[in-house]
Amino acid sequence: MTQEKFTQRPSRLVEKKLQEKLPRREFLKGMIAATGVAAAVSLGTKDAGASALSDFFKSAFFQKHYKEMTPDEKKVVLARLEKETRERYGVEVKIGDPPPLDGVEFAYFLNLQKCIGCRRCVYACVAENNQSRDPQIQYIKVLEMPEGSLDVDEGEIFYDHEKVPQPGKFYMPVQCHQCSDPPCTKVCPVEATWKEPDGIVVIDYDWCIGCRYCEAACPYEARRFNFTEPQIPKDEINPNQSYLSNRIRPRGVMEKCTFCLHRTREGRYPACLEACPTGSRKFGNLLDPKSEVRAILETKRVFVLKEDLKTHPHFYYFFG
Ligand code: SF4
Ligand code: SF4
Repeated sequence: MTQEKFTQRPSRLVEKKLQEKLPRREFLKGMIAATGVAAAVSLGTKDAGASALSDFFKSAFFQKHYKEMTPDEKKVVLARLEKETRERYGVEVKIGDPPPLDGVEFAYFLNLQKCIGCRRCVYACVAENNQSRDPQIQYIKVLEMPEGSLDVDEGEIFYDHEKVPQPGKFYMPVQCHQCSDPPCTKVCPVEATWKEPDGIVVIDYDWCIGCRYCEAACPYEARRFNFTEPQIPKDEINPNQSYLSNRIRPRGVMEKCTFCLHRTREGRYPACLEACPTGSRKFGNLLDPKSEVRAILETKRVFVLKEDLKTHPHFYYFFG
């Protein structure tokens, strides 16, 4: 494919997707104006019809952008999603919406001297965040690196040894770095992804049009696309969910690590940290001068990946 064709293809795809999505939203507005009263009158006497119409208007496709909704509108959406999950997977779930906390800016620190590459963090993340099992979607990659190198291009993702760590190797987990200046949010043509005040980059899965621009823009390869309907065994579904993090995503949308915001905004640690057997992972509030993460930042040899790109990650590596 020539360079010109390569660059034209994604923009044509976005244009097509926007044409598919936006006119339908415009169409809805027009339809309400033109036929709303008549429809309400004619269906008002028939409970079943009125209920179907109500479901139609509350559907994901026609809902407002999550950022713009009132608390009451959000409640309606969360109830609809809980109902859909019950119908689709036969499981009762609770979908919440914990807000960012004042005076909190989350940061993650990874001790490269302690990580042994066991990948327990990877599988804890999959279970916690209701990622598809088949095909399996993983937010965390663990790179097996040759000692003495910090060049991630030299890292091996698909290592498979009976024992870790291997001699002459060290291990570098990579996940969303929750950049302060994220390239992914800037390229999204519909503002389906944005950075929250506590530093977490989120995605409104009901607003995402699946163009994958953000995936291409992420320098850390941290975003994952749902090519198919997520497959999760019923008895493995985590019922504690939130709108902007681990609720089960539909096919055709982007997803990624959110520092388990449904846990961390309620004072808990991310699932990957709890699963780590070596204590390599540290998490906390960077704005708290007494926090462990502040102490690490002030006393250890700390660095971020691809610093030259100036994305200013909230994910740090350290030694010691
Ligand atoms: S690591 Fe990638 S997905 Fe995460 S905020 Fe940065 S650019 Fe976005
Ligand atoms: S979140 Fe990513 S895939 Fe979804 S619409 Fe935005 S750029 Fe496209």
